Amino acid sequence: MKTKIFKYALVLGLISVFTSCENEQIDEQDQNQEVSKYDETSLSNAFFGREASSDCHFEYEGMDGPEFWEDLCGEDWKDCAGNSQSPINIITNSVIEDDNMNNINLNYTSSETDIFNNGHTIQFNYDTGSSASLNNIDYNLLQFHFHTGSEHTINGVQYPMEMHLVHQDPITKLLAVIGIFFKEGRTNRELNRFMNNLPKLEDDQYISSKKYHIKDMLPSDLEFYTYGGSLTTPACSEIVTWYVVKKTVEASHQQLERFAGIMHENFRPIQALNGRVVSTND
Ligand SMILES: [Zn+2]
Repeated sequence: MKTKIFKYALVLGLISVFTSCENEQIDEQDQNQEVSKYDETSLSNAFFGREASSDCHFEYEGMDGPEFWEDLCGEDWKDCAGNSQSPINIITNSVIEDDNMNNINLNYTSSETDIFNNGHTIQFNYDTGSSASLNNIDYNLLQFHFHTGSEHTINGVQYPMEMHLVHQDPITKLLAVIGIFFKEGRTNRELNRFMNNLPKLEDDQYISSKKYHIKDMLPSDLEFYTYGGSLTTPACSEIVTWYVVKKTVEASHQQLERFAGIMHENFRPIQALNGRVVSTND
């Protein structure tokens, strides 16, 4: 009799452990969808009204590396073989000066801290209410993230890190990304606020009510190169106007190493220009 009761209790116990695990899994899934809603794949899915293709997976090397991205998700990632892909090498001699191009006009405000490691980059989700006027279109700032080394190159030169500020036109859902190059130099004071809180592992997240202002991390002069291109991660959708800022910001060797140590090399190789023109507001 005793053993029967014991067995019964054991089974009940196992059932409750099992169901609570399942609940946790569901919560985690909900949470992941929430924190990753502004990553590039989700933004492209939103633009095309596509279901999230959570089974598809990419890497920066090996069999799931950039040269195979177009074939890793059925039809969904075919744009990775498109004709207007990013990043590109910007040849400064070939850049067209466009006097009609407006300067970048930032209407950024401060944000609480929300840093998420999505397995490909460290992404800072930014509170709603910040926007940028880019060539007369108002885009909302959604998030910014980092690549080590830089994705764009200037006359063939690659920088150690590039920051991407991802903006979305609330009406058309088209994207505008401002790229900022980091070069090795003095300790970056603004970046320093986050160095001890960078989420090291995939799906790790750091949230704090502590506010910061992204403008403090940008160069004062935002003269830029601009061209039409794509997301630099699958689905590589060609829905992005790029604004690559000429002036670099500095970060210390140690700071750059910290980012590289977490993200490893997460830059996509240079893509063919295919006749596209790069302009500047200079
Ligand atoms: Zn990026």
